[in-house]
Amino acid sequence: MSAADTKEAVPLILFGGTFDPVHRAHIGAARAVSKALGNAKVYFLPNSVPPHRPQPAASAEQRLAMLKIATEPYPELLTDDRELRRPGPSWTIDTLTELRGHHPDKPLVLILGADSLATLHHWHRWQDYPALCHLAVLPRPGAAEPVNEVLQAFPTTDASRLLDHPAGLRLMLSAPFLDVSSSAIRQRLAEKDHCTSLDDAVLAHIKQHGLYTVPNDARPDDEDS
Ligand code: ATP
Repeated sequence: MSAADTKEAVPLILFGGTFDPVHRAHIGAARAVSKALGNAKVYFLPNSVPPHRPQPAASAEQRLAMLKIATEPYPELLTDDRELRRPGPSWTIDTLTELRGHHPDKPLVLILGADSLATLHHWHRWQDYPALCHLAVLPRPGAAEPVNEVLQAFPTTDASRLLDHPAGLRLMLSAPFLDVSSSAIRQRLAEKDHCTSLDDAVLAHIKQHGLYTVPNDARPDDEDS
């Protein structure tokens, strides 16, 4: 993150995830949040050892490489590899605490899909989040409802009020609304060599490096059949 991003009025927008692989909904979400918040930069933060889910199919280096390819056409989208450099599980709370230490008064915004908002109450030390960051939430087909505790911890707001505060508010976006997921993409790539939910250059990289050629969700029993 550059010195220009330390100006107080400019929010620091973070998008954490596994990005295994990054897809069009991730890019669309990041661009929508950037636009809503004055074209501020969005930092993609790929995690190394995600604590809440099965381990990624692609290596950390490959997931970062795909993110760099996908964000390259958009000057407002950047990558940050701090979670990949940190040993052990990638706890979002550690990243938020570290960045808040560097930027005590700046609006810090964490992008989440609605499915992640619905499970936020299971995240490590989620009750500490409102003191550290805002949330910008994208709709997602099939997402469950969030629990009241989370809704109350992060009152909804509009973009301009959010930028007046460093943390603790929730911006709900209504678009993009895309039925796309990395797991469906991995499944599709294992069966076919084409996928419209991926950026063309990311798909070319996947083919060139032979990624996702085996169904990620195959059980050991399935492998002999
Ligand atoms: P998987 O299918 O492997 O679970 P994913 O598509 O959900 O992957 P992640 O890297 O786990 O991708 O997601 C990172 C963040 O992006 C999460 O906050 C997730 O909610 C959000 N996200 C992913 N896909 C969408 C989508 N189609 N619409 C809105 N948010 C999304």
